[in-house]
Amino acid sequence: MVTIITTVGTWTVKQWRTVKINPEYVNDLINIYNENKEELRRRGVTTFNGFVNHILWHVIESDKILRERAPYMSFVGFTDSGLAIKDERIGRIVEVRIMPGGDLVCDLDQRNDCIHVGFAYAIPEVYMAMLARGKRPPTVRE
Ligand SMILES: [Zn+2]
Repeated sequence: MVTIITTVGTWTVKQWRTVKINPEYVNDLINIYNENKEELRRRGVTTFNGFVNHILWHVIESDKILRERAPYMSFVGFTDSGLAIKDERIGRIVEVRIMPGGDLVCDLDQRNDCIHVGFAYAIPEVYMAMLARGKRPPTVRE
């Protein structure tokens, strides 16, 4: 933020930064953006620049959510049918599976809106894959 003081008033201006992005990532991002333009438009994202900022926002928000709400969970890795999450609260690995219709369902809770599914959506690779399928993160219930 930059504060500009003049004789007619004071403004606070967001100062945009220019960053260098690996060209390989840019190509992938352009492809993802072009393949998901309609879904992104429904989420208020109408430009490639807005898309990159949307991803950054998602990563920042997800990190905050994970640290505040699920410090006892960690991502183990992808499996043949989904992904594995370690839940220290219950002392076990929980699998979240990708169902034929494309939804994520927790093996332990047999639901698509538990904290494990919420955690799965907060992993950027999962979020991007679900975005490509037109799926939205659930409203997580305890
Ligand atoms: Zn669960």
